[in-house]
Amino acid sequence: MNHIELLTKELVDKIAAGEVVVNGASVLKELIENSIDANSKMISIITKNGGKSLIKVVDNGDGIYKEDIQKAFLRNATSKITSSLDSIGTLGFRGEALASISFAADISVITKTADQQTGIMAHVLQNKIISQNEISCNKGTVIEVRDLFRTIPARFKYLKKDQLETIEIIDVATKIALAHPETSIKLECDGKEIFYTSGNADILSCMNSVLGSESTAEMICVDIDDAPLFVHGYTSSSNFITEKRFQHIVLNGRYIHSGQINRAIDQTYKEYYGKSGASFLLYIQIPYHMVDVNVHPAKLEVKLLNESLILMLIKQGIRDALKKEFLLKEPSQNKVIYTEVSESEPVIMEEIADYIPKKMVSTQAQAFSDASFADKDNELNSANADQLETDEPPFIHREQVSHGKSSSVNKELIATLVNMPYIGNAFGLYAMFEMGDNLYAVDTHAAHERVLYEKYLKSYQQKAVATQPLMMPIIIPLPSKQIYILSQYNEEVADIGFEIDEFDTGNIAIRSIPYYFAKYDVRPIVTEIADEIVSWQTNDDFSKRSEHLIQIACHNAVRGSSDISENEVRALLKDLYETEMPYTCPHGRPIIGKINQKYFMKMFERI
Ligand code: ADP
Ligand code: MG
Repeated sequence: MNHIELLTKELVDKIAAGEVVVNGASVLKELIENSIDANSKMISIITKNGGKSLIKVVDNGDGIYKEDIQKAFLRNATSKITSSLDSIGTLGFRGEALASISFAADISVITKTADQQTGIMAHVLQNKIISQNEISCNKGTVIEVRDLFRTIPARFKYLKKDQLETIEIIDVATKIALAHPETSIKLECDGKEIFYTSGNADILSCMNSVLGSESTAEMICVDIDDAPLFVHGYTSSSNFITEKRFQHIVLNGRYIHSGQINRAIDQTYKEYYGKSGASFLLYIQIPYHMVDVNVHPAKLEVKLLNESLILMLIKQGIRDALKKEFLLKEPSQNKVIYTEVSESEPVIMEEIADYIPKKMVSTQAQAFSDASFADKDNELNSANADQLETDEPPFIHREQVSHGKSSSVNKELIATLVNMPYIGNAFGLYAMFEMGDNLYAVDTHAAHERVLYEKYLKSYQQKAVATQPLMMPIIIPLPSKQIYILSQYNEEVADIGFEIDEFDTGNIAIRSIPYYFAKYDVRPIVTEIADEIVSWQTNDDFSKRSEHLIQIACHNAVRGSSDISENEVRALLKDLYETEMPYTCPHGRPIIGKINQKYFMKMFERI
């Protein structure tokens, strides 16, 4: 460890400035980065009230020399760079964080280097040491930051409520833990252990600890060795391309955000599988002089030299990983065929497209897409544009009543449909009825969602959600952030009918569920509820958002349900009739549509 020195004025002028202390999470980021820079193998973090009362970081790193302790809290004093900003290998280099923090909060520090006999304990206020004593202690550093912004009410009032600040703290600690699987990191918030990584350098076990055991399912290895560029890490296999994903990039030990890299990877997946949405955790190593980290002290962006070359290599590495996975699979499992073609051309073809005669693809597909009722601009409808304009009924269109606008779908129609001939269930989703000149399609999921939603919401508003205890609890793995938030909103979540507690590290136990969901799989419901609460950014009450949570719950319950019998369809229509808004699902999508007989006559060229 070097001694701490003041940066020259020339260097100070070159350093991009900006506020580093905005909340507890930003303080924590600076403290953990200091511990990492000090070669710590173990870092333990304790926070209270979202960092407002306490942020404590204990490490076993190099420590600070006794004689340097004053300097550590001066602006632009650092042990990390000497002459230039051209190739920075440490996370810190501005010598600014401890000084800034000391103006925002009370700090106490205990620290000792390996070669000094005793350590030092100091209290710091507004970058001045107000007391210091020699003490005997282990090598390493303990920093406690208390009462953030106590003396600056104008800043204090911008802090969010404790839970939201804690979520940001978990976020920061998660990113740094993922960036450093070789360092053991333990995070405890308000007396509760959020995560612990062993520091055994194994990426998957580190992901497992902080992102939950689901995160490591279906990941494939990425390895690029193209000196001086190295990329190592994991990315989603073709079986695991979803909307719910994580994208983590670590560049030279620094957690960064790069829209460019994210887009490049998305594009590669699109080429191969026709869709993006991969999760990944990649560690990129390039020579320090090829990265400019002096962009903004609190932002995660960096500037890359030779950016396009780096992007190209990353894409190639992802392609290689996907190709390897593809070759390992049984041929029958492969849903897409790809061929190696130039960058700009799409490289996938759906197998099935080969077997559909061209003509059928165009006419039939057109007919199906028309039947989605949604697109008024399509060919068929534009052929009927005159009719539409003269206000005559078009052959097909979306029929719904929403927000009081009248149309031919009304409550009476629903009552009548219940007794009409049932044709069957199309695509496992649309219950088809024939009535007069029309075929009516009922989106059974949307109808179900509406019925469930109104019943469930009403019982919630009356504080009477009927619940069903489970004989065996359902155990599901969740990321640490989600587990934390469920524990914070335990009572509120119980009010919407879910009794949940932490089962063991990384898993929750669902002990009872709303009676309405007895026949559904509640795993996706609880996962989505947790994700939703984690994403809340403002200080709004739970009660204001509960309606939305109930909506999410109903949507996820119904999404997984499958075929429905005729009797069930008729019962569903009766229930739908009883709802206040039987025309749309809670998200506003129509529930009933109709196709006029003329549509078929036109399709078969009878008229
Ligand atoms: P920077 O990290 O940019 O150098 P800081 O204000 O964060 O600036 O820290 C100032 C100096 O204090 C560091 O350069 C380092 O020498 C020392 N220091 C801070 N935290 C630790 C720690 N946990 N272990 C060892 N040294 C530390
Ligand atoms: Mg620092």
